[in-house]
Amino acid sequence: MDPLVAAIDQGTSSTRFLVFNAKTAEVISQHQVEINQSFPKEGWVEEDPKEIMQSVYECMERTCEKLCERNIDVSNIKAVGVTNQRETTLVWDKETGEPLYNAIVWLDLRTQSTVERLINKAPEINKNHLKHKTGLPISTYFSAVKLRWLLDNVDEVAQAVMSERAMFGTVDSWIIWCLTGGRNGGVHCTDVSNASRTMLFNIHTMDWDPELCRYFDVPMEILPKVRSSSEIYGYMKSTSLAGVPISGCLGDQSAALVGQMCFKEGQAKNTYGTGCFLLRHTGTKPVMSDHGLLTTVAYKMGKDEPACYALEGSVAIAGAVVRWLKDNMGIVKSSSEIETLAAAAGSSYGCYFVPAFSGLYAPYWEPSARGIICGLTQFTNRNHLAFAALEAVCFQTREILDAMNQDSGVPLTQLKVDGGMTANRLLMQLQADILCIPVVRPTMSETTALGAAMAAGAAEGVEVWNLSPDHLPHVTSEKYEPQINLEESEFRFARWKKAVQKAMNWET
Ligand code: ADP
Repeated sequence: MDPLVAAIDQGTSSTRFLVFNAKTAEVISQHQVEINQSFPKEGWVEEDPKEIMQSVYECMERTCEKLCERNIDVSNIKAVGVTNQRETTLVWDKETGEPLYNAIVWLDLRTQSTVERLINKAPEINKNHLKHKTGLPISTYFSAVKLRWLLDNVDEVAQAVMSERAMFGTVDSWIIWCLTGGRNGGVHCTDVSNASRTMLFNIHTMDWDPELCRYFDVPMEILPKVRSSSEIYGYMKSTSLAGVPISGCLGDQSAALVGQMCFKEGQAKNTYGTGCFLLRHTGTKPVMSDHGLLTTVAYKMGKDEPACYALEGSVAIAGAVVRWLKDNMGIVKSSSEIETLAAAAGSSYGCYFVPAFSGLYAPYWEPSARGIICGLTQFTNRNHLAFAALEAVCFQTREILDAMNQDSGVPLTQLKVDGGMTANRLLMQLQADILCIPVVRPTMSETTALGAAMAAGAAEGVEVWNLSPDHLPHVTSEKYEPQINLEESEFRFARWKKAVQKAMNWET
């Protein structure tokens, strides 16, 4: 039998475990478990670190059972890769193994006043004050401010730091530490792609930066060791996969870039999950944006390999607006039902929905923006609202694609897409119409997990996955061509931009 490689894909809305054939990239087996999110106060978003680990174990064990039922020996799994929601921040006690607070999810806005204070103390009140080192604007999005909040507001965290028991990590670090033994010798590490989203990491020196740590007043001893995205970090303890190396680690958007085979400068992909993230590979040198995009470390495929960078347009709310219509408004019973409603409407009939629930990310970076729905008439019904919500995802992508084209000077001629929302065909067609370029979706949509599996399988000492261009698996895809005229598309986009201005200035 061909060697198999597994991936843990710990996303904002669910955890998945997938097993791939390392020769064909075919999915052999998988299991998925949804994750609860809690919203304890307005703007706060938390997840339970123990539930996250429980979901990882459950997905792993169920998948192994499914393999056994098909008489596939789990010993064929040669490596495990981890990919994860980025920026989400955890602190735990290395002696008890217990989390000291819930995970503060990337979307969380509790640090808005801290961010305002940090921007105000920067010379010229500049949110880009640390961008030359980090590639990022000072924002509620990144881990450093969330960690600062934990240090200031949670006594258990402050005490654990004082008594040298605290460990900080993003979700990848938490998972790898737990799986490699936890308080009994677990490995405390992260990879460069995850580290580059903390605002404590220097994307030029590729290490934690003492000056950045001083800026946020973060003790360096609680940080994980930064490793490449593809190397053996440690071995699984217990579980059905005990002894298997964990040898791939990538933030989810980096993993999707790899899974979409974007290894060359200029190649790009857009992932539609809870949020929406367009990444364009910029080669081995970081490129700074003049149009509100982030510069991020894409991956480093081995200890001695060079780091590759990407320009990134991040949108906070994409699939999350569908979940909001489902959970908060009861307009749909399942995420997929939104397609039926939107198809029944056929248009938003002049209704625009800016879901700025967590402020606005790229290209605006405006934490005080809030969601608005405008253009309502007596005629508007839930179908139009459903359409407007999907259209919002497409307009937000158009804004970041425009910014990316301006930054690079070379317009994208088609857009590779993936993520949970791309199951929605109406959304895909709408996206092609609003961008006026074809949208290409691989038939195997689990590209994030695939990227993590590829990194794990290619690691030195594992070497069951060959990443050289001649050996990359052939991926079939479907293509959506634009079907409306440019004038109509531009008219709708101009209206959307007016609505965005209202979302940004809703208080004035
Ligand atoms: P994440 O990795 O952020 O957890 P996923 O890629 O798993 O996200 O996608 C899940 C998101 O996609 C959810 O927010 C869900 O509401 C949305 N979603 C899933 N299926 C559909 C669909 N058919 N139409 C629209 N949105 C969908």
